[in-house]
Amino acid sequence: MDALENVLPQRFNNRLITWSKQVDRPLPWRRERDPYRIWLSEILLQQTRADTVVGYYHRFLKAFPTVQDLSDAPIDVVLKMWEGLGYYNRALNLHKTAQIVHTELKGQFPDTYEGLLALPGIGPYTAAAVASFAFGRHHAVVDGNVLRVISRLMGLQDPVDQPAIRQQIQYLANELMGTANAATYNQAIMDFGAIQCIPGNPDCPTCPFASDCVAFLTDAVSSLPIKRKKQPVADRYFVFYIFHKEETVWLMQRGHQDIWPQLFTFPALEVTAIPEKKRPLQLRNQLQAWTGLDLSIRFPHAPELKQLLSHQRIHGYFLPVHLPAKTKVPADWVSVRKGDFSAQALPRILKTYLESYGLPI
Ligand code: SF4
Repeated sequence: MDALENVLPQRFNNRLITWSKQVDRPLPWRRERDPYRIWLSEILLQQTRADTVVGYYHRFLKAFPTVQDLSDAPIDVVLKMWEGLGYYNRALNLHKTAQIVHTELKGQFPDTYEGLLALPGIGPYTAAAVASFAFGRHHAVVDGNVLRVISRLMGLQDPVDQPAIRQQIQYLANELMGTANAATYNQAIMDFGAIQCIPGNPDCPTCPFASDCVAFLTDAVSSLPIKRKKQPVADRYFVFYIFHKEETVWLMQRGHQDIWPQLFTFPALEVTAIPEKKRPLQLRNQLQAWTGLDLSIRFPHAPELKQLLSHQRIHGYFLPVHLPAKTKVPADWVSVRKGDFSAQALPRILKTYLESYGLPI
Protein backbone atom coordinates (compact mmCIF):
# COMPACT_ATOMS: atom_id res chain seq x y z
CA MET A 1 0.00 0.00 0.00
CA ASP A 2 1.40 3.43 -1.05
CA ALA A 3 0.90 4.99 2.34
CA LEU A 4 3.46 2.60 3.79
CA GLU A 5 6.25 3.89 1.56
CA ASN A 6 6.75 6.84 3.90
CA VAL A 7 6.92 4.78 7.06
CA LEU A 8 8.67 1.48 6.59
CA PRO A 9 7.53 -1.01 9.26
CA GLN A 10 10.97 -1.97 10.56
CA ARG A 11 12.08 1.62 10.98
CA PHE A 12 8.69 2.55 12.44
CA ASN A 13 8.53 -0.05 15.13
CA ASN A 14 12.22 0.33 16.07
CA ARG A 15 11.61 3.99 16.77
CA LEU A 16 8.30 3.29 18.45
CA ILE A 17 9.78 0.74 20.85
CA THR A 18 12.71 3.08 21.61
CA TRP A 19 10.19 5.86 22.36
CA SER A 20 8.09 3.58 24.57
CA LYS A 21 11.07 2.65 26.74
CA GLN A 22 11.22 6.26 27.87
CA VAL A 23 7.63 6.25 29.12
CA ASP A 24 6.12 3.72 31.44
CA ARG A 25 2.64 4.49 32.59
CA PRO A 26 2.22 2.80 35.99
CA LEU A 27 -1.10 1.09 35.31
CA PRO A 28 -2.01 -2.03 37.31
CA TRP A 29 -2.88 -4.19 34.28
CA ARG A 30 0.44 -3.44 32.59
CA ARG A 31 2.52 -6.56 31.84
CA GLU A 32 -0.37 -8.63 33.16
CA ARG A 33 -0.60 -12.03 31.45
CA ASP A 34 -3.75 -13.40 33.09
CA PRO A 35 -6.52 -13.37 30.43
CA TYR A 36 -9.27 -12.72 32.99
CA ARG A 37 -7.54 -9.63 34.36
CA ILE A 38 -6.58 -8.37 30.89
CA TRP A 39 -10.11 -8.85 29.58
CA LEU A 40 -11.61 -7.14 32.65
CA SER A 41 -9.31 -4.13 32.26
CA GLU A 42 -10.04 -3.87 28.53
CA ILE A 43 -13.82 -3.92 29.05
CA LEU A 44 -13.53 -1.28 31.78
CA LEU A 45 -11.32 0.85 29.52
CA GLN A 46 -13.84 0.95 26.67
CA GLN A 47 -15.10 4.59 26.53
CA THR A 48 -13.39 5.39 29.85
CA ARG A 49 -10.11 7.07 30.80
CA ALA A 50 -7.41 4.90 32.36
CA ASP A 51 -7.14 6.96 35.55
CA THR A 52 -10.89 6.51 36.17
CA VAL A 53 -10.65 2.77 35.53
CA VAL A 54 -7.89 2.05 38.08
CA GLY A 55 -10.20 2.18 41.13
CA TYR A 56 -12.91 0.12 39.42
CA TYR A 57 -10.32 -2.47 38.34
CA HIS A 58 -9.11 -2.98 41.92
CA ARG A 59 -12.67 -3.10 43.31
CA PHE A 60 -13.80 -5.65 40.71
CA LEU A 61 -10.80 -7.89 41.34
CA LYS A 62 -11.31 -7.70 45.08
CA ALA A 63 -15.00 -8.64 44.78
CA PHE A 64 -14.53 -11.12 41.92
CA PRO A 65 -10.98 -12.52 41.98
CA THR A 66 -11.78 -15.15 39.32
CA VAL A 67 -14.04 -15.45 36.31
CA GLN A 68 -16.12 -17.94 38.31
CA ASP A 69 -16.70 -15.37 41.06
CA LEU A 70 -17.91 -12.88 38.48
CA SER A 71 -20.06 -15.48 36.76
CA ASP A 72 -21.69 -16.50 40.06
CA ALA A 73 -22.45 -12.92 41.15
CA PRO A 74 -26.03 -11.64 40.74
CA ILE A 75 -26.23 -9.09 37.91
CA ASP A 76 -27.52 -6.41 40.31
CA VAL A 77 -24.30 -6.71 42.32
CA VAL A 78 -22.22 -6.34 39.15
CA LEU A 79 -24.26 -3.33 38.03
CA LYS A 80 -23.90 -1.71 41.46
CA MET A 81 -20.13 -2.09 41.21
CA TRP A 82 -20.24 -0.64 37.69
CA GLU A 83 -22.25 2.38 38.87
CA GLY A 84 -20.79 5.66 37.57
CA LEU A 85 -19.02 4.17 34.54
CA GLY A 86 -21.99 4.54 32.19
CA TYR A 87 -22.60 2.47 29.03
CA TYR A 88 -24.23 -0.21 31.17
CA ASN A 89 -24.49 -2.71 28.33
CA ARG A 90 -20.78 -3.24 28.93
CA ALA A 91 -21.58 -4.51 32.43
CA LEU A 92 -24.32 -6.81 31.13
CA ASN A 93 -21.96 -8.23 28.49
CA LEU A 94 -19.17 -8.56 31.05
CA HIS A 95 -21.43 -10.74 33.15
CA LYS A 96 -22.67 -12.78 30.15
CA THR A 97 -19.13 -13.45 28.97
CA ALA A 98 -18.02 -14.49 32.46
CA GLN A 99 -20.90 -16.99 32.54
CA ILE A 100 -20.01 -18.37 29.09
CA VAL A 101 -16.33 -18.72 29.99
CA HIS A 102 -17.11 -20.34 33.33
CA THR A 103 -19.91 -22.69 32.28
CA GLU A 104 -19.29 -23.45 28.59
CA LEU A 105 -15.53 -23.03 28.27
CA LYS A 106 -14.51 -24.65 31.56
CA GLY A 107 -13.12 -21.39 32.93
CA GLN A 108 -10.67 -20.88 30.04
CA PHE A 109 -10.78 -17.81 27.82
CA PRO A 110 -10.37 -18.62 24.12
CA ASP A 111 -6.73 -18.13 23.13
CA THR A 112 -7.42 -16.95 19.57
CA TYR A 113 -8.59 -13.63 18.13
CA GLU A 114 -11.59 -15.32 16.48
CA GLY A 115 -12.58 -17.20 19.64
CA LEU A 116 -12.47 -14.02 21.71
CA LEU A 117 -14.39 -12.07 19.07
CA ALA A 118 -17.30 -14.50 19.41
CA LEU A 119 -17.90 -13.53 23.05
CA PRO A 120 -20.44 -10.83 24.07
CA GLY A 121 -19.00 -7.33 24.38
CA ILE A 122 -15.72 -8.19 22.63
CA GLY A 123 -15.13 -6.32 19.37
CA PRO A 124 -12.07 -6.34 17.08
CA TYR A 125 -10.05 -4.00 19.32
CA THR A 126 -10.66 -5.94 22.56
CA ALA A 127 -10.12 -9.31 20.84
CA ALA A 128 -6.76 -8.11 19.47
CA ALA A 129 -5.74 -6.65 22.85
CA VAL A 130 -6.57 -9.80 24.85
CA ALA A 131 -5.18 -12.14 22.16
CA SER A 132 -1.86 -10.27 22.06
CA PHE A 133 -1.41 -9.38 25.74
CA ALA A 134 -2.55 -12.73 27.17
CA PHE A 135 -1.59 -15.17 24.43
CA GLY A 136 1.03 -13.41 22.32
CA ARG A 137 -1.16 -13.65 19.20
CA HIS A 138 -0.05 -11.51 16.29
CA HIS A 139 -2.96 -9.05 15.99
CA ALA A 140 -2.50 -5.29 15.87
CA VAL A 141 -4.90 -3.27 18.00
CA VAL A 142 -6.79 -0.37 16.46
CA ASP A 143 -8.39 1.89 19.05
CA GLY A 144 -9.04 5.64 18.90
CA ASN A 145 -5.39 6.40 19.67
CA VAL A 146 -4.11 4.12 16.91
CA LEU A 147 -6.62 5.54 14.41
CA ARG A 148 -5.30 9.01 15.13
CA VAL A 149 -1.63 8.02 14.89
CA ILE A 150 -2.00 6.12 11.62
CA SER A 151 -4.26 8.64 9.93
CA ARG A 152 -1.78 11.43 10.72
CA LEU A 153 1.31 9.46 9.94
CA MET A 154 -0.09 8.42 6.55
CA GLY A 155 -2.04 11.63 5.92
CA LEU A 156 -5.31 9.74 5.37
CA GLN A 157 -7.96 12.04 3.95
CA ASP A 158 -10.96 9.74 4.39
CA PRO A 159 -13.24 9.58 7.45
CA VAL A 160 -11.75 7.04 9.85
CA ASP A 161 -15.17 6.03 11.17
CA GLN A 162 -16.20 4.52 7.79
CA PRO A 163 -16.01 0.70 7.85
CA ALA A 164 -13.92 0.50 4.66
CA ILE A 165 -11.38 3.00 6.00
CA ARG A 166 -11.32 1.17 9.34
CA GLN A 167 -10.41 -1.97 7.44
CA GLN A 168 -7.68 -0.11 5.59
CA ILE A 169 -6.29 1.17 8.89
CA GLN A 170 -6.41 -2.33 10.37
CA TYR A 171 -4.37 -3.52 7.39
CA LEU A 172 -1.86 -0.68 7.85
CA ALA A 173 -1.65 -1.40 11.59
CA ASN A 174 -0.85 -5.07 10.92
CA GLU A 175 1.77 -4.08 8.36
CA LEU A 176 3.35 -1.54 10.70
CA MET A 177 3.59 -4.15 13.45
CA GLY A 178 5.55 -6.35 11.07
CA THR A 179 7.35 -9.06 13.00
CA ALA A 180 7.55 -7.12 16.28
CA ASN A 181 6.40 -8.72 19.53
CA ALA A 182 2.63 -8.13 19.40
CA ALA A 183 2.11 -7.31 23.09
CA THR A 184 5.04 -4.89 23.23
CA TYR A 185 4.12 -3.23 19.96
CA ASN A 186 0.41 -2.87 20.81
CA GLN A 187 1.14 -1.35 24.19
CA ALA A 188 3.66 1.03 22.65
CA ILE A 189 1.44 2.36 19.86
CA MET A 190 -1.49 2.92 22.23
CA ASP A 191 0.81 4.77 24.65
CA PHE A 192 2.19 6.78 21.76
CA GLY A 193 -1.33 7.94 20.83
CA ALA A 194 -2.21 8.69 24.45
CA ILE A 195 0.98 10.57 25.32
CA GLN A 196 2.71 11.93 22.21
CA CYS A 197 0.30 12.04 19.27
CA ILE A 198 -2.55 13.48 21.31
CA PRO A 199 -5.73 15.08 19.94
CA GLY A 200 -5.47 18.78 19.18
CA ASN A 201 -1.91 20.02 18.96
CA PRO A 202 0.72 17.41 19.74
CA ASP A 203 4.35 18.34 20.27
CA CYS A 204 5.41 17.30 16.75
CA PRO A 205 8.95 18.74 16.73
CA THR A 206 9.92 16.28 19.51
CA CYS A 207 8.22 13.31 17.80
CA PRO A 208 10.45 10.49 16.54
CA PHE A 209 8.36 10.33 13.35
CA ALA A 210 8.45 14.06 12.53
CA SER A 211 10.58 13.50 9.42
CA ASP A 212 8.12 10.90 8.02
CA CYS A 213 4.74 12.07 9.23
CA VAL A 214 2.59 13.27 6.33
CA ALA A 215 0.31 15.33 8.57
CA PHE A 216 3.25 17.18 10.12
CA LEU A 217 5.05 17.70 6.83
CA THR A 218 1.91 19.04 5.15
CA ASP A 219 0.70 21.11 8.11
CA ALA A 220 -2.45 18.99 8.48
CA VAL A 221 -2.03 17.72 12.05
CA SER A 222 -4.99 19.56 13.56
CA SER A 223 -7.36 18.46 10.79
CA LEU A 224 -6.62 14.73 11.13
CA PRO A 225 -8.15 12.28 11.70
CA ILE A 226 -11.18 13.18 9.62
CA LYS A 227 -14.51 12.07 11.06
CA ARG A 228 -17.97 12.05 9.59
CA LYS A 229 -20.52 14.48 10.91
CA LYS A 230 -21.59 13.54 14.38
CA GLN A 231 -24.97 11.93 14.88
CA PRO A 232 -27.39 14.61 16.16
CA VAL A 233 -28.18 14.53 19.86
CA ALA A 234 -31.83 13.73 20.65
CA ASP A 235 -33.55 15.36 23.63
CA ARG A 236 -35.60 13.10 25.93
CA TYR A 237 -37.70 14.22 28.88
CA PHE A 238 -38.37 12.12 31.97
CA VAL A 239 -40.53 12.89 34.96
CA PHE A 240 -39.23 10.96 37.98
CA TYR A 241 -41.83 10.51 40.68
CA ILE A 242 -40.33 10.24 44.14
CA PHE A 243 -43.07 8.28 45.85
CA HIS A 244 -42.41 8.34 49.56
CA LYS A 245 -44.07 7.44 52.84
CA GLU A 246 -42.42 7.77 56.24
CA GLU A 247 -39.03 6.04 55.90
CA THR A 248 -39.72 4.44 52.53
CA VAL A 249 -39.24 5.44 48.89
CA TRP A 250 -39.97 3.36 45.82
CA LEU A 251 -37.80 2.48 42.84
CA MET A 252 -38.41 0.59 39.60
CA GLN A 253 -35.94 -1.57 37.73
CA ARG A 254 -35.64 -0.66 34.06
CA GLY A 255 -35.82 -3.26 31.28
CA HIS A 256 -33.00 -4.62 29.12
CA GLN A 257 -33.62 -2.26 26.23
CA ASP A 258 -33.04 1.47 25.99
CA ILE A 259 -30.89 3.61 28.25
CA TRP A 260 -29.86 2.49 31.77
CA PRO A 261 -30.57 -1.24 31.18
CA GLN A 262 -31.55 -3.01 34.41
CA LEU A 263 -30.67 0.01 36.55
CA PHE A 264 -33.05 1.36 39.19
CA THR A 265 -34.77 4.73 38.95
CA PHE A 266 -37.64 6.41 40.71
CA PRO A 267 -40.78 5.37 38.79
CA ALA A 268 -40.52 7.49 35.67
CA LEU A 269 -42.72 8.63 32.82
CA GLU A 270 -41.17 9.72 29.57
CA VAL A 271 -42.94 12.75 28.14
CA THR A 272 -42.57 14.40 24.76
CA ALA A 273 -41.47 17.84 25.92
CA ILE A 274 -40.59 19.90 28.97
CA PRO A 275 -43.47 19.36 31.41
CA GLU A 276 -45.10 22.67 32.07
CA LYS A 277 -45.23 23.58 35.71
CA LYS A 278 -48.59 25.26 35.16
CA ARG A 279 -50.29 21.98 34.38
CA PRO A 280 -50.45 19.88 37.55
CA LEU A 281 -53.72 18.31 36.44
CA GLN A 282 -52.18 16.93 33.28
CA LEU A 283 -49.37 15.26 35.22
CA ARG A 284 -51.85 13.99 37.77
CA ASN A 285 -53.95 12.43 35.00
CA GLN A 286 -50.90 10.87 33.37
CA LEU A 287 -49.88 9.43 36.69
CA GLN A 288 -53.35 8.05 37.32
CA ALA A 289 -53.54 6.45 33.87
CA TRP A 290 -50.15 4.81 34.44
CA THR A 291 -50.38 3.64 38.04
CA GLY A 292 -54.07 3.78 38.95
CA LEU A 293 -53.13 6.07 41.85
CA ASP A 294 -55.06 9.29 42.26
CA LEU A 295 -52.61 11.57 44.02
CA SER A 296 -52.05 15.24 44.38
CA ILE A 297 -48.72 16.49 43.07
CA ARG A 298 -46.53 19.23 44.46
CA PHE A 299 -44.30 20.93 41.99
CA PRO A 300 -40.63 20.44 42.55
CA HIS A 301 -38.34 23.10 43.86
CA ALA A 302 -35.47 21.35 42.15
CA PRO A 303 -34.41 22.66 38.77
CA GLU A 304 -34.30 20.48 35.72
CA LEU A 305 -31.26 18.17 35.69
CA LYS A 306 -29.56 17.07 32.50
CA GLN A 307 -27.35 14.15 31.59
CA LEU A 308 -25.60 13.85 28.25
CA LEU A 309 -25.30 10.31 26.94
CA SER A 310 -23.54 9.42 23.69
CA HIS A 311 -26.36 10.57 21.38
CA GLN A 312 -29.05 11.65 23.81
CA ARG A 313 -29.56 14.56 26.16
CA ILE A 314 -31.69 13.45 29.11
CA HIS A 315 -33.79 16.08 30.89
CA GLY A 316 -34.98 14.94 34.31
CA TYR A 317 -37.73 16.49 36.44
CA PHE A 318 -38.17 15.17 39.96
CA LEU A 319 -41.61 15.30 41.57
CA PRO A 320 -41.94 14.27 45.22
CA VAL A 321 -45.28 12.55 45.79
CA HIS A 322 -46.36 11.64 49.31
CA LEU A 323 -48.23 8.34 49.42
CA PRO A 324 -51.16 8.30 51.84
CA ALA A 325 -51.37 5.38 54.29
CA LYS A 326 -52.70 2.10 52.85
CA THR A 327 -51.90 3.11 49.25
CA LYS A 328 -51.29 -0.02 47.21
CA VAL A 329 -48.37 0.53 44.85
CA PRO A 330 -47.81 -1.41 41.60
CA ALA A 331 -46.30 -4.84 42.19
CA ASP A 332 -43.10 -4.16 40.24
CA TRP A 333 -42.03 -1.24 42.41
CA VAL A 334 -39.29 -1.94 44.92
CA SER A 335 -39.49 -0.35 48.37
CA VAL A 336 -36.22 0.98 49.73
CA ARG A 337 -35.44 2.48 53.09
CA LYS A 338 -34.86 6.20 52.53
CA GLY A 339 -31.30 6.91 51.56
CA ASP A 340 -30.17 3.28 51.51
CA PHE A 341 -29.42 2.60 47.87
CA SER A 342 -26.53 0.26 48.61
CA ALA A 343 -28.07 -2.63 46.67
CA GLN A 344 -29.37 -0.76 43.62
CA ALA A 345 -27.33 0.73 40.79
CA LEU A 346 -28.67 4.19 39.93
CA PRO A 347 -28.07 6.28 36.81
CA ARG A 348 -25.92 9.34 37.26
CA ILE A 349 -28.85 11.77 36.92
CA LEU A 350 -30.49 10.22 40.02
CA LYS A 351 -27.27 10.27 42.00
CA THR A 352 -26.77 13.92 41.09
CA TYR A 353 -30.30 14.70 42.21
CA LEU A 354 -29.86 12.87 45.51
CA GLU A 355 -26.50 14.53 46.19
CA SER A 356 -27.89 17.97 45.39
CA TYR A 357 -31.39 17.86 46.83
CA GLY A 358 -31.77 14.75 48.98
CA LEU A 359 -35.04 12.95 49.54
CA PRO A 360 -38.33 14.54 50.64
CA ILE A 361 -39.00 14.31 54.37
S1 SF4 B 1 4.67 14.23 14.01
FE1 SF4 B 1 2.96 14.93 15.24
S2 SF4 B 1 1.14 14.24 14.16
FE2 SF4 B 1 2.88 13.10 13.32
S3 SF4 B 1 2.95 11.20 14.50
FE3 SF4 B 1 4.29 12.65 15.52
S4 SF4 B 1 3.01 13.64 17.08
FE4 SF4 B 1 1.64 12.63 15.62
